[in-house]
Amino acid sequence: MSPSPSQNKSGSLTVVGIGPGSPEMLTRAAELAIGQADIVIGNDFYIDQIPHLLKEQEVIKSRMGKEVDRAKQAISLAQEKHVVMVSGGDPGVYGMAGLILEMTEQTSPDLAVEVIPGITAASAGAALLGAPLTNDFAVISLSDLLTPREIIEKRIRALCSAAIPMVLYNPKSRTRTSLFEDVIVIAREHLSDDTPVGIVKDAYRPDQRIIVTTLREVMDVEDSVDMHTVVFIGGEETRMLRRYNNARGMFTPRGYHRKYEY
Ligand code: SAH
Repeated sequence: MSPSPSQNKSGSLTVVGIGPGSPEMLTRAAELAIGQADIVIGNDFYIDQIPHLLKEQEVIKSRMGKEVDRAKQAISLAQEKHVVMVSGGDPGVYGMAGLILEMTEQTSPDLAVEVIPGITAASAGAALLGAPLTNDFAVISLSDLLTPREIIEKRIRALCSAAIPMVLYNPKSRTRTSLFEDVIVIAREHLSDDTPVGIVKDAYRPDQRIIVTTLREVMDVEDSVDMHTVVFIGGEETRMLRRYNNARGMFTPRGYHRKYEY
């Protein structure tokens, strides 16, 4: 008779953040975990970002939208094998860590589950723009697949009224475009039209593209916003930053200028 899942403790499940895309942006801990795995499972888009780390391991590619099936399969395989589930960016930011922990709590509370952090799109995009998130900021996903649209709208209103920088994940999909426009309309009710807006597409991937514009003009370039893009709307203290070669960046002061002279 095969042992029941909760009795067999020889396997493990590690949820690994692989960062925004390029191998240099992956942590050493992520690399080691993937290298030591028997099985690596993940969305095909993310598996395709780590070919250099896949050698002896069995690789299971899954499609986007199949997260629950993928999590079930990973938990089941992890009863006997060392399984790594890869997740883009940080697995705890709109990633697989939550679902895995929620499901193991229900079905396999004795399974060893570890989460390895990764560089999330907000950190990756912020670094490319300069330093837009140096003080308080908020992150919101505009995807209404798992969160009802009314709740997203309510949160957008609350965040815009706080006038702190906001990072929009999942700003648009092929079928969902209007929430992005709503955010811009609401933001303009609370912030100056000159407020900087940064659009970072495919951060640290071969097709990387960075646009710095303003709330007034962002809808002119909204075609560049898609599901591979993260959007930064500045807060009341955010300003454009002149950078090397006159490239435009974004900067939010931490507050040193209030205390020190420099
Ligand atoms: N766990 C991921 C986020 C998953 S949600 C993380 O921590 O980054 C997917 C959304 O993240 C995308 O729609 C996009 O808004 C953002 N994103 C993820 N990687 C990105 C990248 N390399 N460049 C720009 N945006 C990215």
